Amino acid sequence: GIRVWRAAEEVIAALTDAGWEAVYVGGGVRDLLLGRGAKDVDIATAAPPEAVMKVFPEAVPTGLAFGTVTIPRQGIGVEVTTYRREGGYRDRRRPSQVEYTPKLEEDLGRRDFTINAMAMSRGFRLIDPFGGLEDLLAGQIRAVGDPAQRFAEDALRMVRALRLAAELSFDLDPSVVLALNKQVKDVRYVAVERVLGEWRRLVVGDVDKVARELAACGFLEWWTGMPVGRDRGLQVAAVWGRACRRLPRDSALRTGVLLWMLGCTRQHAAAMTKAWRASRLFQRDVITWWEACHFDPLRAEPGDWARWLYHLGRERAEMGLRVVQAVRGYGEEEEMASREAFRRAVEAQPLWDRRDFATEFETLCRAAHIPPGPLWGEAERALREALLNGQVANDPRALGEYLAHWVRGRRKME
Ligand code: ATP
Ligand code: MG
Repeated sequence: GIRVWRAAEEVIAALTDAGWEAVYVGGGVRDLLLGRGAKDVDIATAAPPEAVMKVFPEAVPTGLAFGTVTIPRQGIGVEVTTYRREGGYRDRRRPSQVEYTPKLEEDLGRRDFTINAMAMSRGFRLIDPFGGLEDLLAGQIRAVGDPAQRFAEDALRMVRALRLAAELSFDLDPSVVLALNKQVKDVRYVAVERVLGEWRRLVVGDVDKVARELAACGFLEWWTGMPVGRDRGLQVAAVWGRACRRLPRDSALRTGVLLWMLGCTRQHAAAMTKAWRASRLFQRDVITWWEACHFDPLRAEPGDWARWLYHLGRERAEMGLRVVQAVRGYGEEEEMASREAFRRAVEAQPLWDRRDFATEFETLCRAAHIPPGPLWGEAERALREALLNGQVANDPRALGEYLAHWVRGRRKME
């Protein structure tokens, strides 16, 4: 918000007072023009990093190799990067060297897309040598220069193009689409974490806007490891895009839904998220939502409802309903019927959490003389299943009796 701009303004003022040219650049300028609140505003300057460090003794050299230092201001870290052009690229990844330049235009020329290649002076004069404003007004993602060449330099830019289009609800320029179709295979040379980062932002955006291109260029097949073929890929992507309009903006949720729609097995979905080097939490959530999709609210028995609700947990139950409604493409009537069934199931839900047994589980086990150890885990599962299936009521006596009965049966088996 405005605090970010206030902090950045202070930094520009100090640099200008020291005699250095300094401007706002990149995403911050783009977002300001779009009327979107900026998370951060980057500053570019003609001053070399050492000179920036001199103006701000408190500066932190956060990315000195790339000419970036961070200046703490009003609790915000303002990034200042020296104007640079980028030297030769190797293996379609990062520039092999960084060269500084005193010319702002060269710095803007190395940036990926025209809407990201605008600068603004302290007096809010726009510096826009590549027609970024025009593309911003037209809602277009266009490369700075020849997209084929820019994507050959850095294949991540292809994923960024798709992400920006989704995030801003913009169109990809036809030249970008063309290059994407030819070169998307090069994305495999990019560090998978970086692709995942873009992916997670893409899927919480306007997926519908890019669903077609995602599938048509082959990215979706490669990324999900599901060789579904072009036609089927396009079809699934379209359905997924439409479903996303009704889905919460949750990256794991939307990813899980996609994997389910593509016909992934649980094993495949787990292997894929692991291969993306996603966090444990993200991996787990994707699987949770993949699983949630299997549920059919109009056919489910009370026990199915109970298990499904338990699996999701109280906080996510409502979201779960929205997911199945969206993936099954429910119309108004089915939506109402499923909501009603949901309401009833929620009301009747015998158990939401393992901590919600009417008597503390340990107390129950001690009373039934079950020794601590692996048997407790088994007992807990049995008790939970019985509760969810409606075979036992969640009150202290019923639970105690059930467990005593269970352990007798268990001992007989041994
Ligand atoms: P946001 O902060 O919302 O992600 P952003 O545009 O600031 O948007 P960053 O990843 O922070 O995105 O990058 C800052 C700027 O650096 C971009 O606006 C763009 O000008 C440039 N940039 C980032 N990545 C690349 C890249 N791979 N190739 C060329 N320029 C890039
Ligand atoms: Mg940024």
